[in-house]
Amino acid sequence: MRLGRLALVLWSTTLVQTTPLGNPPKIDGEHNLTSRDLPTGTVRWTLHKTCYQQGLAEGGDELRDAVIKSVNAAKDRSKLAVDTLNVWRDKCHSVFGNDRLKPEEQRVKKACQLLLGDSKYTLLGKTAWKDKIDIVKVWLEAASKIDGPKGQTNNEFENSKEWQDLAAQDDHWLNFIIYCAPDLGERNHPSRPGQKLPYDNGQLRLIREPDLSALVKMNKEYEAKAFEDSEGKFTAAITELSKATGDDETENSGTHIPKGDRKKIPCSITIHPHMLRQTRDREFNIKGEDDIKAAIKMDKPKKEDKFTPIDKVVGLTETIHHEFFHTPGLGRMTDGPLGPGLGNSEAYDWKNIVKNKDPTMPEYFMFLALLVDLTNKDIVVNEDGSLMDKSAPASAS
Ligand SMILES: [Zn+2]
Repeated sequence: MRLGRLALVLWSTTLVQTTPLGNPPKIDGEHNLTSRDLPTGTVRWTLHKTCYQQGLAEGGDELRDAVIKSVNAAKDRSKLAVDTLNVWRDKCHSVFGNDRLKPEEQRVKKACQLLLGDSKYTLLGKTAWKDKIDIVKVWLEAASKIDGPKGQTNNEFENSKEWQDLAAQDDHWLNFIIYCAPDLGERNHPSRPGQKLPYDNGQLRLIREPDLSALVKMNKEYEAKAFEDSEGKFTAAITELSKATGDDETENSGTHIPKGDRKKIPCSITIHPHMLRQTRDREFNIKGEDDIKAAIKMDKPKKEDKFTPIDKVVGLTETIHHEFFHTPGLGRMTDGPLGPGLGNSEAYDWKNIVKNKDPTMPEYFMFLALLVDLTNKDIVVNEDGSLMDKSAPASAS
């Protein structure tokens, strides 16, 4: 089973770029990261009570620890990716066009070609893979320095003085809080008497179009305990931003937040309770060792398979890692669109990421860091998503 991920941003309608049919795909505007999307400095985070209060959602000590471990594992993997890419930068350069390589060099060459090779997508105006290596490191480095969970002492988290002090500041919207279930209420419709609308207790705003809200859908699935659609998919996590630029107040009227104060509302990442239940079922295998072993044993995927062995390695840590890059402090990236008619249909999963090599999306960063991690473990990732363990003597070539 595979997980879909989704970034829900309040201002998403302005981000959808369409290109007139007939023109070659031209990727620009919001989809290309610009200097505006560079990390903003240290991003702080904490947990919402749904993750740690016994009896709330899936919350409890085990879950609290699993989420913290997953965030730390995603941070560690970002750091590993930065350190490794520093070494690879020159190695990648020297191995291109050179076929007389030692096995380890071959692995690095292959890994470089998979996600760092040429693509039609630019990053800060740069197209060459060498420049891209230097640039992707900026976001990974910032991800490796996320600071939290704040208020861990005495399990106070978002109620701690530490977090409340941050909440008094105008740049708090750059920080994030992790929810382990949607936290929705209900409020009167501002203009239609008698009609109620869902209210996001995290972002302190009305959800004006409930039918289009991924958070409302997640909440319905959670309450009905019916998590999967007929294809076994569900939205693994949702990132919501309070502020895009820190100066837009208009679209939140009716939420009774004084002008200026939205800047003090942190970004929220809501993890689907089903994702957490799956993680529990897998005995909180946070670093994915068991999943990696299982993926190595899988058959080579068929051409028509949507999901490949490396997709099976994606769990809570990888989901959180993906969401990192949606947050406003870490690039506020979106999941596509990639071109005319594609929408965000190619924003997820290994096959799409390796095909497009588009270094402006959360899934790209998640898979790049995973690829580096696996390569460092002497596991070869093939273009088709199959894995081969080269550390085991029996399978060494
Ligand atoms: Zn996403």
